Amino acid sequence: MKYFIGFRKGSVMLGLLLIGLLNGALTSAADLSDNNIKQALRDAYQKYRGLDEGENADYIPALAEVDSSIYGIVLVTAGGKVYTEGDVKSEVSIQSISKVFTMALVMDQDGTQELVQNMGVDATGQVFNSIVAIEQYQGAEMNPLVNAGAIATTGLVDGKDYDEIWGKIAREYNEFAGRELEVLEDVYQSEAATNQRNRAIASLMHAYGHIDENFLRATDIYTRQCSVGVNAKDLGVMAATLANAGKNPVTNKQVTSAENVPEILAVMATAGLYDDAGKWLYKTGLPAKSGVGGGIIAVSPGKFGIAVISPRLDAAGNSVRAQKAIADISNALGGNPYEVTPR
Ligand code: GLU
Repeated sequence: MKYFIGFRKGSVMLGLLLIGLLNGALTSAADLSDNNIKQALRDAYQKYRGLDEGENADYIPALAEVDSSIYGIVLVTAGGKVYTEGDVKSEVSIQSISKVFTMALVMDQDGTQELVQNMGVDATGQVFNSIVAIEQYQGAEMNPLVNAGAIATTGLVDGKDYDEIWGKIAREYNEFAGRELEVLEDVYQSEAATNQRNRAIASLMHAYGHIDENFLRATDIYTRQCSVGVNAKDLGVMAATLANAGKNPVTNKQVTSAENVPEILAVMATAGLYDDAGKWLYKTGLPAKSGVGGGIIAVSPGKFGIAVISPRLDAAGNSVRAQKAIADISNALGGNPYEVTPR
């Protein structure tokens, strides 16, 4: 204040105004300060640590065996700073979260319209592996994040054989995560032995012309992609790559075209959390995707990606602790893209 002493009253007022504005700017920038982020992660970790509501998924037998106490939180900023809390080493299968990254691969390969034309981008209003939803519009009004659309998306990846297609998918996931991921063979075997329903879905999608005659191969590759092992840090970096317009902020590699990202996030927003996608968006405003392995990723565009792993799921199939922790952290850090202050 002493710098303004001796100036005219108007200048003092102007000075005060500038200080006020500067303070305002600093306060909002401080939302993503080191301390705030660390505090938000710590608070959410502690608050939900003792929460043991929900159950592991068990329709895939191997998932019932996963340690349900795993609980890890990772936030990665769009600038590539990594913040962690809890168990960030234990791996679970990526499951449905994989659908997001195969979607990105096909968008780069065929442009963004192919998916819109093939299986659409609308929420089905039915469960993620619904057969009724396929019947309703002959497989047309689906999206790449429900099983029918996801298997068809995997079926669109070009390649002369299984290995070449799988190689492309694995490379895409590795680049999103910034490291070599591996398939959890026990999960793959367990799901492959029990995925009759997904084979039926793929067969129906073939019957309606959304997937070619290699629909069983596509189902198997889809099952393999769902069995990729990830820890909370991998998922955090994958989410942050989406928060940073498709460029991995840790490796600095552009993994998917920046143009794809708003469309990927739009489908995540409408269909990412199964039947509770609407409730989730209402609460957080964040595009997100969950998997029955217990992971959830969420994206605050331009700000951060966040991931939580905790295998106990609610009735809709979403991790109980992950939903709560992500919502708290994002709200503490101003992550909701719909929330602005009036000018
Ligand atoms: N592989 C699982 C399935 O197709 C994925 C389910 C999920 O995570 O939503 O049933």
